[in-house]
Amino acid sequence: MIDLSLTEEQRLLEQSVREWAAREVAPFIRDNDRRHHFDRERILGGMAKLGLLGVSVPQEYGGAGMGYVEYVTTIDELSRIDGSVGIIVAAHTSLCSNHIFLAGNETQKKKYVSKLATGEYIGAWGLTEPSSGSDAGSARMSAVRKGGNWVLNGTKTFITNGHYADVLVVIAVTDRAAHTHGLSAFVVEKDTKGFRPGKKENKLGLRASDTAELIFEDCVLPAENLLGKEGDGFIDAMRVLDGGRISIAALSLGMAQGAYEAALKYSKQRKQFGKPISDFQAIQWKLADMATEIDAARLLTMRSASMKDAGMKTTLESSMAKLYASEVAVRCANESVQIHGGYGFIKDYPAEKFYRDVKLCTIGEGTSEVQRLVIARQLLRD
Ligand SMILES: Cc1cc2nc3c(=O)[nH]c(=O)nc-3n(C[C@H](O)[C@H](O)[C@H](O)COP(=O)(O)OP(=O)(O)OC[C@H]3O[C@@H](n4cnc5c(N)ncnc54)[C@H](O)[C@@H]3O)c2cc1C
Repeated sequence: MIDLSLTEEQRLLEQSVREWAAREVAPFIRDNDRRHHFDRERILGGMAKLGLLGVSVPQEYGGAGMGYVEYVTTIDELSRIDGSVGIIVAAHTSLCSNHIFLAGNETQKKKYVSKLATGEYIGAWGLTEPSSGSDAGSARMSAVRKGGNWVLNGTKTFITNGHYADVLVVIAVTDRAAHTHGLSAFVVEKDTKGFRPGKKENKLGLRASDTAELIFEDCVLPAENLLGKEGDGFIDAMRVLDGGRISIAALSLGMAQGAYEAALKYSKQRKQFGKPISDFQAIQWKLADMATEIDAARLLTMRSASMKDAGMKTTLESSMAKLYASEVAVRCANESVQIHGGYGFIKDYPAEKFYRDVKLCTIGEGTSEVQRLVIARQLLRD
């Protein structure tokens, strides 16, 4: 028998994240969502104390020394309560920290990863630009060598944690003629002259997370801020996204579960025609489909996380998990609103917020169309 159950230690982690999120996140969700408020003190401070900002980072770099299964469990539990918290941790960990951990030299890992893992620093990761999203290889931001330094010019867009990040990883063109082999990654500290966060996006959902423009105007970086080899930035970014897409699958899973649980509870309380609406077969079938699809999404997500923990390449499996889980989350949030009827449209109930929040999952870190491209490419490779 294939054992897909969590170990005792993993269950304990799941339980402690669940309890912490119910206590520290849930009471403030509506207010943070309404005010578009990034609750750095309470939420990030609390997660740092619990070690949730470096779950999968080795202990020698300040992390908890656990694996991706534990990291996915954490994102899933946080997102069950509030997807905004899930995406903040996902961008910080699986994108920023992971890129430095994967491509950085020992000095960079000691200098940045250890502070990111303990929560002393907040991280962000910038690949997307105003004119290059799905086609990330066509990025325009430039990095030109001048003396012993690099000079960065350009704009990144839609960057999670952009206003609050202490350290950012960005991808820029170092050799335009070499196309995707001419892109390189750089670490930028927030106070570097020539760098500033720009427009704060006013979003449909995940409003308690920050999404920002990053502006670079003659931003001078010392040579040692090049991350990985010159020209390897795009390839490394794709490797980072193999892990990042598992994060978005976990974010989707958490929100799908939250939307399902809200619908299940409501269906037992709400009476029409003299009985709970859960007595109607139409509602039962919706609940049955939601629970089945969430379970299938969880299996795909956990498979890719455990493959990553085993050191295997997960390009195909990460994309399958991200594609399926995000589309399941959108369907579940839609059905949750439907089961709530008119109350699903009202902000007093959680269904409305899940409905707005989940849509990001079919877009961020590669749209559903791009996931299908990646999957098909892998299938047709041989
Ligand atoms: C809330 C939020 C947070 C984000 N956080 C980050 C972050 O932290 N870091 C970061 O770098 N980026 C981030 N992003 C950017 C995100 O990854 C991009 O929005 C996404 O990759 C899509 O790019 P685009 O928006 O430019 O859409 P486009 O690429 O312009 O796509 C538009 C449409 O065309 C489709 N399309 C494009 N190419 C093809 C094709 N070849 N075949 C079929 N269909 C195609 C797409 O699927 C989509 O439906 C974030 C975005 C949001 C909204």
